[in-house]
Amino acid sequence: MERRIYLDNSATTHTDAEVLQKMLPYFSDVYGNGSSQHFFGREALAAIDEAREKVAKAIGAKPSEIYFTSGGTESDNWAIKGAAHALRAKGNHIITTAIEHPAVIQTCKRLEKEGFEVTYLPVDDEGFVTADQVENAITDKTVLISVMTANNEVGTIEPIREIGAVAKKHKVLFHTDAVQAIGNVPIDVVKDNIDMLSMSAHKFYGPKGVGVLYKRTGVKTERFMDGGEQERNMRASTLNTPGIVGLGAAIEKAVLDMEKNNAHVKELRDFFVAEVLANISDVRYNGTKDTSRRLASNANFSFEYIEGESILMSLDLAGIAVSSGSACSSGSLEPSYVLLSLGVPIELAHGSIRFSFGKDNTREEVEYTLKKLYEVVARLREMSPLFKKFEGEKKYV
Ligand code: PLP
Repeated sequence: MERRIYLDNSATTHTDAEVLQKMLPYFSDVYGNGSSQHFFGREALAAIDEAREKVAKAIGAKPSEIYFTSGGTESDNWAIKGAAHALRAKGNHIITTAIEHPAVIQTCKRLEKEGFEVTYLPVDDEGFVTADQVENAITDKTVLISVMTANNEVGTIEPIREIGAVAKKHKVLFHTDAVQAIGNVPIDVVKDNIDMLSMSAHKFYGPKGVGVLYKRTGVKTERFMDGGEQERNMRASTLNTPGIVGLGAAIEKAVLDMEKNNAHVKELRDFFVAEVLANISDVRYNGTKDTSRRLASNANFSFEYIEGESILMSLDLAGIAVSSGSACSSGSLEPSYVLLSLGVPIELAHGSIRFSFGKDNTREEVEYTLKKLYEVVARLREMSPLFKKFEGEKKYV
């Protein structure tokens, strides 16, 4: 393979070199268990506490409100199941959206089996839900609202401050999955009225397998795993010191560099989008065109008359890594439920590709990708009888 171009930064990012350097001593020299009372343990605990402070500072929280977890999925599970179970006597209704990550949707599905009722709010054709929709769905049985800060497929940034205000007004807990937002969208848990927030280090140039659940002081949840008394007796298991140190270093850097990184990826993304729309026919740009309400890193297109998987594989052969919205489960290719929720027709949802740009991508990489994409789309359409028949008939932009 001549080239290796990574345009799948929403799936995961590489661990930043400086972050990695800060983690390394905690695999070798400072390997104590953070719960041990001797100096090996105390050294590890000091590093964990420092990381906790960095996370708290990055989101306007207090260190005592930060709980380390194994990643975004665990944080979402804990927030939603933990709060739902703790508040069961008060009510059994949860409000979320139709475009949440499976870590939220599947958690809600599980709770439905236990007798909870879940409202999955629909989104508009750009992927937005409104605070009014949330308010109208609240009943006297509502105990939790969970709305993501930014969507992983189409990059829509939801109005979480307004939704948080509605939750506060009605005294309902508000959780937000901010896994895609940290390092891309400024967050202040106090101003944004957030009671619980999930994040995952590997999405902001930190290591995989470590995340955070922020829980505002006073928010009651059940503990998620039974076992030892780590994390104020709320989350059992030996703390992942190198991972936590990496998460702390990564969030500090991500927040510090947010403006610079956003400006860089936005320039690449905007150039890429404009070129694709100008040079490829029968293509639909999914999500919002309002760049102030979309992750700067995200571009999502549906290419009419061809399968997303075919584009993905052809780009893969050309050394370009992207993602298709389809989930390949048990041999059948399901179109993205997120795109379907935005009203994208099923055949177009099948032809969708997400390009997600990162801080280390270059203009030259984007130009190379465009060149390959034109070739791939033209070649695949050459084989499509439908394209020959209907080319240019539908207008998407
Ligand atoms: N939530 C969102 C919005 C995500 O994009 C992801 C990962 O893709 C997750 C949750 C799950 O995070 P993790 O892979 O750290 O468990």
